[in-house]
Amino acid sequence: MSKVYLYRKNKEKIEYESILDDIASKIKQKFNHNDKIALKLHFGEEESDTHLNPELVKSLYNRINNHVKKAVLMDCNVLYKSDRSFGESHKKTAKKNGFNFAPIIIADGEDGKDETEIDINLKHFEKARIGKKLENYNGVISIAHYTGHDATGVGGNLKNIGMGLGSKPGKLEMHNAFELEVDKETCTGCKKCNDICPENAIQVNNKAEINQQTCIGCGSCVGWCPKGAVKIPWSNSTSKDLQEKIVEYAYAALKNKKTYHINVLLNITELCDCVNKPQKPIIQDIGILASNDIVSIDQASIDLTGKKFIPENINPEHQTNYAEKIGLGEKKYELIEINH
Ligand code: SF4
Ligand code: SF4
Repeated sequence: MSKVYLYRKNKEKIEYESILDDIASKIKQKFNHNDKIALKLHFGEEESDTHLNPELVKSLYNRINNHVKKAVLMDCNVLYKSDRSFGESHKKTAKKNGFNFAPIIIADGEDGKDETEIDINLKHFEKARIGKKLENYNGVISIAHYTGHDATGVGGNLKNIGMGLGSKPGKLEMHNAFELEVDKETCTGCKKCNDICPENAIQVNNKAEINQQTCIGCGSCVGWCPKGAVKIPWSNSTSKDLQEKIVEYAYAALKNKKTYHINVLLNITELCDCVNKPQKPIIQDIGILASNDIVSIDQASIDLTGKKFIPENINPEHQTNYAEKIGLGEKKYELIEINH
């Protein structure tokens, strides 16, 4: 059974320094002076104000940087239209959001197509398309801001690695699970979906119509439609497929790597940090989790946060079930609360 360490937030202000001392000591047991490490995180969109706290990442980075050969901050580009969909502007956004204290590597390059194919031979994919520059690192520390997600229920460490380290074509491959449809009976023609669609894939003439050729399957319109009129045709099974695909990509990205995992259960919002506007936390802060096991840490996060904010037709445990099945880790864990 894997150990998951919980540093609970029990005061108004969380004491990062003592928490990070403890987490860094655990990381140092695992990594050594020959290791090159990518700290995989999501830098947040420019208008997002609940993304990972850069001071937390900086404090951790400073504690481990001298212990290893090289440490960088890493992400890949996003599919939707955003400053984070191209390498240089992605880095600028990261720096604006406070991540200006360490080298930043956008692993799939300027246009998102710089990738390496990793053999996995699993149910959905024989190969996964992972950001190429990850090849230069033998270790990954995944720091995920745990949030809700309109297509997968939650986004934690599995999603940070699986979706997060996929190149743009890799992300497209994972998202192609979707062929969204609009329920014409329910649609009121309010155009909210049209405003939010990053690809202008929705035309609204009284009723919304999705152009399947230009839709990238980002799922945003599903969450934003006030009437729930945008439907995922295969309902749960499609959400299941997407969750499985993300897990297969996580398997590929972590293959033959040394790893460590951190989930930040603070400022937990209904949607992920790809939303380019401020969001309000939907549940009380819990704290920070750390573990060697990517499956255990996500399962513990689901157990600690509950499922009230997750759409009824999505079971986020499909991620952890499938990840355990393909050998990424264990769902059973021992939760060890650390006083700090
Ligand atoms: S899923 Fe919806 S919001 Fe996203 S690209 Fe397709 S139509 Fe647009
Ligand atoms: S947001 Fe929903 S109700 Fe409004 S136009 Fe789009 S599909 Fe129709």
